[in-house]
Amino acid sequence: MAASKRFLSPYRAELFLGPDEESRASISIRRDVGSVVLLYGHRGRGEEWRREEYPVFVEWTPCNYGGLRPWFHCPVRTCDRRVAVLYGSGMFACRQCHQLAYESQRETSHSRALSRAQAIREKLGGSPCIDDDFPPKPKGMHWRTYRRLALEGERAAARSLPPWMWRLISTMGASCNAT
Ligand SMILES: [Zn+2]
Repeated sequence: MAASKRFLSPYRAELFLGPDEESRASISIRRDVGSVVLLYGHRGRGEEWRREEYPVFVEWTPCNYGGLRPWFHCPVRTCDRRVAVLYGSGMFACRQCHQLAYESQRETSHSRALSRAQAIREKLGGSPCIDDDFPPKPKGMHWRTYRRLALEGERAAARSLPPWMWRLISTMGASCNAT
């Protein structure tokens, strides 16, 4: 559920709030040379505010039709994967790093929902990564079946996020689609 949204160009931050109404977070993004600096505060239920400030490195790659698009480097030191989306609930990291953290807590409802979302994508012939575009309707499948699976897949993907979480999206559509 998107409780509030803020759009910050060219990097977009969206805050998803779950049932834990007392959790609060705020963020600002500052552009620097070769990086963006994240400044944010977060507070769990009944906890003090915690302030964080650190850089996330940004790499630019050429688009097929001209222009450049930005990628984040996962700030987890042992990871450094190049990704289009970072997730934050405390610390920002790529989905794989968050997934490792979930798996260490065993089958939580979040990871069960993620498995379901991934299974639906694969059934439709798409990539299991929920950050990729949702797969189109396979040939021979009824639209009704496809719409039902798409809706279930989107709901499962939304449930796979922790109770509150930032999604930081590197998007440079304007640059990549520039004529
Ligand atoms: Zn990572």
